[in-house]
Amino acid sequence: MEYVSTRGSAPALDFEGVTLAGLASDGGLYVPREWPRFSEAEIADMAGLPYAELAVRVMLPYVTPSLTEEKLRDLCQRAYGRFAHDAVTPLKQFDERHWLLELFHGPTLAFKDVALQLLGRLFEEFLSRSNDHLTIVGATSGDTGSAAIDAVAGRERVDIFMLHPNGRVSDVQRRQMTTVRAPNVHNIAIEGTFDDAQAMVKRMFNDAAMTDRFHIGAVNSINWARLMAQVVYYFASAIQLGAPHRKVAYSVPTGNFGDVFAGYVAAQMGLPIEQLIVATNVNDILHRALSDGDYSTGTVTPTAAPSMDIQVSSNFERLLFDVGGRDGLALAEQMRGFEADKAMRLTNAQREGAAKLFTSARADADDMAQAMRWASEHCGEIIDPHTAIGLHAARASDLPAHIPIVTLATAHPAKFRDAVERGTGVRPGLPSRVGDLFQREEAFSELPGDYDAVAAFVAERATPSA
Ligand SMILES: *Cc1c(COP(=O)(O)O)cnc(C)c1O
Repeated sequence: MEYVSTRGSAPALDFEGVTLAGLASDGGLYVPREWPRFSEAEIADMAGLPYAELAVRVMLPYVTPSLTEEKLRDLCQRAYGRFAHDAVTPLKQFDERHWLLELFHGPTLAFKDVALQLLGRLFEEFLSRSNDHLTIVGATSGDTGSAAIDAVAGRERVDIFMLHPNGRVSDVQRRQMTTVRAPNVHNIAIEGTFDDAQAMVKRMFNDAAMTDRFHIGAVNSINWARLMAQVVYYFASAIQLGAPHRKVAYSVPTGNFGDVFAGYVAAQMGLPIEQLIVATNVNDILHRALSDGDYSTGTVTPTAAPSMDIQVSSNFERLLFDVGGRDGLALAEQMRGFEADKAMRLTNAQREGAAKLFTSARADADDMAQAMRWASEHCGEIIDPHTAIGLHAARASDLPAHIPIVTLATAHPAKFRDAVERGTGVRPGLPSRVGDLFQREEAFSELPGDYDAVAAFVAERATPSA
């Protein structure tokens, strides 16, 4: 598969190239040149496969020829062998209509593990071929950071610098990052919001003084390999619910538009998805964009679902590219306008294209707490605040009753136990796989919200590229 940039002027790359590149050199994001498509018979034939084997079927068209089928299988088996549930992403039934897809059985208790456990192994494979060294620079609203650090801690050829907004992540999230003591792990608590941190990371990708010396890589969902790995659980769940012979809808708690974009990709590949519900908290830029074409940033309001406290959703650009006729140069122009004005209007083609599959809903703090209580009282399930936002949107849906709606459970409730306790009165216990998290010592550096300070910090500690 060849990959092209959403902004039309960066060189096309193969899978190995996009995995190691992160952002494209023209500031765009890489997308496959075309969507591979499975027939109904091919999808029917995937029923009953173990998760790692299903992952091989779904991802093989994207990784060829960079990886052989045997190599991909080996990486998937090792990545998904670390999950605490044999099904990797088990599906639970709430009631006749609503289902919960549990994506939090990985080592750091959020869905990010599904992709990052694989990505860490992909880095190792590709870097050893080229004898290169990678400097991963990432921004996290909490869960990407811990999942990425777990995936690369102690690996040779990789250093990771992870920026989190100081004081704006939960104690479990922070400790999952800052108690990992490996010489290649560097945690930075930065003044400001997640969007400020993300903007610095993007700037570093475009800073020749850094990119000339270091091979800078991405673990945020701007990295295509992450989205690709997330497509697999849409297939796993829809097939369990009767695909290809039955349509399924999904409600996805959304921040950077990565997880829900993976659902869009699954639909392009032939999975019969009736609708993707984009569920946001009060930081609702995506809800405004999808409901009336207004893509404009506001200030970020901290909520009990911090992984969705985002006002610039990087992956939305991938959707705008695909539904807007794949015109990279026009999109580059539109995005330049957005970067200058912090606002833009979607074109008619973009709005109509998105409306074919997407709808959206916004949940405030009350909606979220009510959804947590409903799950607890009616189904005996304790769910986390992010998942509750998805469930709220699913329950508010006006889809016909015969279409099952799967809410993606993006985090384990123990990861956000204070908010869960406030909502339900139940304080969820930490699963044993996180061990003695609260006894371990933390290590992180505090930096001001200043790009030069961050660049200097990285330059002092990173290993130059080969
Ligand atoms: C990252 C995250 C989200 C948002 O996912 P995106 O891919 O950024 O849309 C939602 N919930 C949890 C728990 C997360 O960690």
